[in-house]
Amino acid sequence: MTTIIDGKAIAADVRAKIAQAVTAMQSRHNVQPALAVVLVGDDPASHVYVRNKGIATEKAGMKSIEHRLPVDAAEEDVVSLVRDLNADDTVDGILVQLPLPGHISSSRVINEIDPDKDVDGLTEVNAGRLILGKEGLVPCTPQGSVIMAKTVRPNLSGLNAVVVGRSILVGKPLSMLLLAENCTVTMAHSRTADLPAVCREADILCAAVGIPRLVKGDWVKKGAIVIDVGINRIEEQGKTRLVGDVDFDAAKENASAITPVPGGVGPMTIACLLRNTVVAAARRRGLGAVDV
Ligand code: NAD
Repeated sequence: MTTIIDGKAIAADVRAKIAQAVTAMQSRHNVQPALAVVLVGDDPASHVYVRNKGIATEKAGMKSIEHRLPVDAAEEDVVSLVRDLNADDTVDGILVQLPLPGHISSSRVINEIDPDKDVDGLTEVNAGRLILGKEGLVPCTPQGSVIMAKTVRPNLSGLNAVVVGRSILVGKPLSMLLLAENCTVTMAHSRTADLPAVCREADILCAAVGIPRLVKGDWVKKGAIVIDVGINRIEEQGKTRLVGDVDFDAAKENASAITPVPGGVGPMTIACLLRNTVVAAARRRGLGAVDV
């Protein structure tokens, strides 16, 4: 029987643990962790994401702060807001919603964030810490992917992991996290020769590409764990559907466990953002380790 890894249920567990940790912080230390989100412009999808993050933050008992800037805000205005949030001792996490309008350098703005408040884990400092195996803040989607894999196989040591996709946001950090779990990691991408053969070697196969159902059922080794990060909107039989980068119906015939889309990695991303916020709050304020 193939296990369908239930992202919603796992995310709910993570969120419940976070809420407990927040309650404990408040009662023991009188601290309420706070997440500040910066939204520039009026991209409708970004507004929905920011609203959902705010609701989830408050549900977990944390403070949510939103800063909205107009679409024509100058890069210096955004940088100066980030610097103010860095200096604000009551703010534990800072997230700049991407994409930023074209005239603003995302790289410059992101790297202005204090690495210890960088709850998206996107600053160069946190990327460096991840590669060096140092304590830092890890990007949310890769972190959620590994948590999900470990629900079915707590010890990933020695397994062959193949990560398809090498983006800064997902593929590269996910590969580093799997390496830290002592997997033997192959990073595959658009120039990989014979991708099906590479995938067939995987005990853990992760797809983060953005091509609907790229990974076919017969690319999946019998018994593999499949983590599908892709979220693709397609038109099918007159309806709009969300599908992953893996052909789910065919892949589940070979996989021992697989994440669905929707309801797989997606819900874990916000849960891990909350997790990073609590972890950042505990570290910055010297409150000791939190069990989330
Ligand atoms: P990206 O476009 O930045 O990177 C895609 C990667 O796929 C590239 O490294 C490229 O080399 C590789 N690639 C492209 N074509 C390929 C091919 N034919 N064969 C093999 N590799 C190929 O995308 P991203 O930001 O990493 O996102 C990937 C997917 O994950 C998207 O569907 C995105 O929507 C989804 N995503 C989901 C979440 C979530 O919360 N679940 C978060 C981030 C991204």
